[in-house]
Amino acid sequence: MQGKVIKVSGPLIVAEGMADSKLFDVVHVSDKNLIGEIIELRGDKASIQVYEETSGLGPGDKVVSTGAPLSVELAPGLIEGIYDGIQRPLIDIYKKYGDRIGRGIEVNNIDREKKWDFIAVAKIGDDVVAGDVLGTVQETPIVSHKIMVPYGIEGKIVSVMDGKYTITDTVAIIKTKNGNEKVCMLQKWPVRVGRPYKSKMSPDVPMVTGQRVIDTLFPIALGGVAAVPGPFGSGKTVVQHQLAKWADADIIVYVGCGERGNEMTDVLNEFPELKDPKSGEPLMKRTVLIANTSDMPVAAREASIYTGITIAEYFRDMGYNVAIMADSTSRWAEALREMSGRLEEMPGEEGYPAYLGSRLAEFYERAGIVNVLGSEDKVGSVTAIGAVSPQGGDLSEPVSQATLRIVKVFWGLSSALAYKRHFPAIDWLISYSLYADKLNDWYNENVSADFSRLRAFAMSILQEEAELDEIVRLVGADSLSYKDRLTMETAKSIREDYLHQNAFHEVDTYASLTKQYKMLKLLYDFYRLGNEALDKDAEFSDIINLPIREKIGRAKYIPESEIDSFDEINKELVESLKAIANNGGEDNE
Ligand code: ADP
Ligand code: MG
Repeated sequence: MQGKVIKVSGPLIVAEGMADSKLFDVVHVSDKNLIGEIIELRGDKASIQVYEETSGLGPGDKVVSTGAPLSVELAPGLIEGIYDGIQRPLIDIYKKYGDRIGRGIEVNNIDREKKWDFIAVAKIGDDVVAGDVLGTVQETPIVSHKIMVPYGIEGKIVSVMDGKYTITDTVAIIKTKNGNEKVCMLQKWPVRVGRPYKSKMSPDVPMVTGQRVIDTLFPIALGGVAAVPGPFGSGKTVVQHQLAKWADADIIVYVGCGERGNEMTDVLNEFPELKDPKSGEPLMKRTVLIANTSDMPVAAREASIYTGITIAEYFRDMGYNVAIMADSTSRWAEALREMSGRLEEMPGEEGYPAYLGSRLAEFYERAGIVNVLGSEDKVGSVTAIGAVSPQGGDLSEPVSQATLRIVKVFWGLSSALAYKRHFPAIDWLISYSLYADKLNDWYNENVSADFSRLRAFAMSILQEEAELDEIVRLVGADSLSYKDRLTMETAKSIREDYLHQNAFHEVDTYASLTKQYKMLKLLYDFYRLGNEALDKDAEFSDIINLPIREKIGRAKYIPESEIDSFDEINKELVESLKAIANNGGEDNE
């Protein structure tokens, strides 16, 4: 069955004679064998988004459906992969075809020649179901790749082979109802369909990021969904990179949709330079990178986030915690808008199609913490974090609004904070985490029994500061009571000594939860005992000029290995404030 092109409009073509094909089938277009996907089917006419440049195509060119949906290849070799939006390996392409991605190129998504050391886990005679681990491959020094029974296969192991194999060699034979199935290490999965699992669980364990404003004030759960909206230059990419480096996820899938012309090239250069702080290995040793450069066709960008989340789900199914970052989803939405325009669909707000929200949801809803398939009880998670870059930071635009309706965590970056070089520029007055209440129990049990109290303290002081700021603006600082001024001082300290965190400082870049707790406890005790001292008529200036405050200001630079020194600072703080309180009391006697 072969159709014919009747119209070409940029990345969109229309072909007739396509009645036998299905929606979302992948097709090959013209003698150049360009890859496309059917995105609309009316009678025998198919609208096809083409993932490659369409110049030179014209009416009459042939279109052949593959009969299969757009799929990704899943096998050892994924990790360290750098792919375009439809999983074509950019490095191999550059090697083979030079700088520009040629058209109709033929490279395998994952290396077919490389032999991997497959270590059998299953044994002959085992009854296995989809998701059960047949064996493992140590893919990189930090990732053990589990070779699972593919979806739809169930039966008894007839043979399973230890040894060195390529991803298409048979590594196990399973006797099923329908006869013997040969299983290799390579699986395929359609990108627009979520991979199955047994059940979704409630996200009540945090994904610890080492970023204080996130972990303490606006935490994200493993399997949670978050958005980082912010104008140009406010720090979205740095936040995403920090999470990629420091979050306690086993695997990172990073989908880059370049904002500036050569930003993706930067990602391609920078990402491989990042070090995994936990293992000392390059971060790429547990990362899959999907890069959309601005010179790539928009259709591939549209597909990229689904390609990314399918790969994320695959590692989730091995029982890993996976984090997927999309930077930025606004560029992705623009691709969607362009394709919709070409389809001559009825435009919605600002030209985005009416289904913008449901497409975004199709991405974010695939995040979650789940019981994965298999005979054993095993948990895996996909945590999804999308950057949004609204023009001028105006969150009323459609992509921000659609995203906010879906995500549970909102880290709103503010250009005012970025301008003052308060980084991360996450604005505590507009940000929120709907997981925070649920995670309180975890923090109280695993960090310290009063963690949630300290979180509430920090939040309320920051809120009060905003209100007091307003009063100061109206009637001046002199109108404030000493207690109000102490609140202002404490808030300043929370902002500058606690929330401000330099991503590029070797110690400050990451703070363990214990360190976060101990830091915050200093500020809490300062506030609490400062108030007590004021009650005993201590001098306000004595309180705020305490020499120990300088140590508190530098506490963020105390390395994790010297965490005990916080207790000494705390002791000194408590003693000096009590001394002031007692003096204040004596003066009055
Ligand atoms: P965006 O992606 O929103 O356009 P970037 O993430 O590229 O912005 O950040 C712009 C600049 O802001 C960075 O190059 C860096 O100088 C600074 N910056 C952002 N976040 C931090 C941080 N946590 N610590 C230190 N500097 C930061
Ligand atoms: Mg950026």
